[in-house]
Amino acid sequence: MNLLDTIAAVSTPYGKGGVALIRISGADAIAVADKIFKARSGRKLAEAEHGKMTYGEIFMPGESDSIDDVMAVAFRAPRSFTGEDTVEISCHGGILVTRKVLSAVLLAGARAAEAGEFTRRAYVSGKLKLNEAEALGDLLEARSESQLTLARGGMKGRLSDRMGELYDDLRKVLTGIYAVIDFPDEDLSEMSREEMESEIGRVAADVRRLADTYGTGRAVSEGIPTVICGRTNAGKSSVYNRILGYDAAIVTDVEGTTRDVLRETAILGKATLLLCDTAGLRRTEDKVESIGIERSLKEIDDAELVLAVFDGTRAPTDEDVELAQKVNVSGVASIALINKSDLCAEQSSELLSLCSTFDKTVSVSAANGEGFDALAAAVEELFIDGDIDIKKDAVVTGARQFAALNSCCELLYRALEDMRCGVSLDACCVGIECAMSALGEVDGREIGEEIVADIFSHFCVGK
Ligand code: GDP
Repeated sequence: MNLLDTIAAVSTPYGKGGVALIRISGADAIAVADKIFKARSGRKLAEAEHGKMTYGEIFMPGESDSIDDVMAVAFRAPRSFTGEDTVEISCHGGILVTRKVLSAVLLAGARAAEAGEFTRRAYVSGKLKLNEAEALGDLLEARSESQLTLARGGMKGRLSDRMGELYDDLRKVLTGIYAVIDFPDEDLSEMSREEMESEIGRVAADVRRLADTYGTGRAVSEGIPTVICGRTNAGKSSVYNRILGYDAAIVTDVEGTTRDVLRETAILGKATLLLCDTAGLRRTEDKVESIGIERSLKEIDDAELVLAVFDGTRAPTDEDVELAQKVNVSGVASIALINKSDLCAEQSSELLSLCSTFDKTVSVSAANGEGFDALAAAVEELFIDGDIDIKKDAVVTGARQFAALNSCCELLYRALEDMRCGVSLDACCVGIECAMSALGEVDGREIGEEIVADIFSHFCVGK
């Protein structure tokens, strides 16, 4: 990928629409557009005002019939999304007409953009920090209000600002230590050794706190691996469908209907669930169903949340008891769902006592939707930190950011330990520099080319 080329792509989704947007970015963007765009006013885009729309027509190079009436806007570097000269052409949103406008742009000298290349250029030119580019990716994927709130906060630099503060704090400590090392007799450093230690400890604790917001960020943005399990006919598939809001799984009163593991992503309150429905647990001679049951049990081992469904109209069976034991042993977060509340207001004391071994118990009716708000609240209590205000606070939303903060924190505690043990200040500085380096990975000031390429490969073409 040559980042000096002038690139172009359709930035709106493929398909028929009122308008489509073709974006051109790079040093030659305006010259390329001027080869194929003729303004009604006769003025070249090169002479047009920054950011002002010009009405005109697009022509294939060398042809006299126009392809479409369009609006074109020129943005001059660095005042554009990519930080480069950019032209945006809004044409009519037919599939063929859009393709032809893009072809004209490519024939005029632009190269087809790769996936995520516009955003990558914005990062390279310093318009976006790496975590802000990731937040933009989250914004494009957002399906819930909470996901959108976090993504907007990330794009506005809430995380970058917080980590910039921590980075500056560490730089100050480091400068102080170097002053002591380089000019031991001058008494240049404002900080005593004890103060340095306490400052490193404070920053380490702040980094830890920031890293820990990932529990909430992940539950909202990426999702909690969640398995719905229980014995046959308890209502697992009905619960699965109710959470998803549509009939994704087949529901019948025939035992053993769900045989394979079904997976979907669902929004439940503020949380996102990476949900799977599993085959019902029961003794069976059926080979296919037995394999399904084995898979159900395996899913419990891999999950971070188990929604164990019990039939509230019946006393617990051996399968119910075995399930509760398995969940308890696995130590995974668990919610007992006592289903079919529409049929029976009171449950047997055996069932209630079995459910009390779970982290939470919620009574629901998959048939009429009763209790699902309480289920959402229970999930939030288990996974979302109530002290975090997702509208205001810096929140870590990606595994990459979390890993970087984690390693920064470990390196700082190691440096602190070294200082307390009387290790030379030089050696402690190396540790702090490594910690700063790890911290810098969050916003991309210290990051390898491969990781950058990996991040932007998840974007679509045109973004
Ligand atoms: P699964 O085998 O555990 O997946 O159970 P299903 O979701 O297939 O449901 C088994 C039967 O119970 C079906 O006939 C459902 O219509 C019924 N059922 C499930 N949930 C409820 C509920 O909340 N109330 C009532 N009345 N019936 C339910």
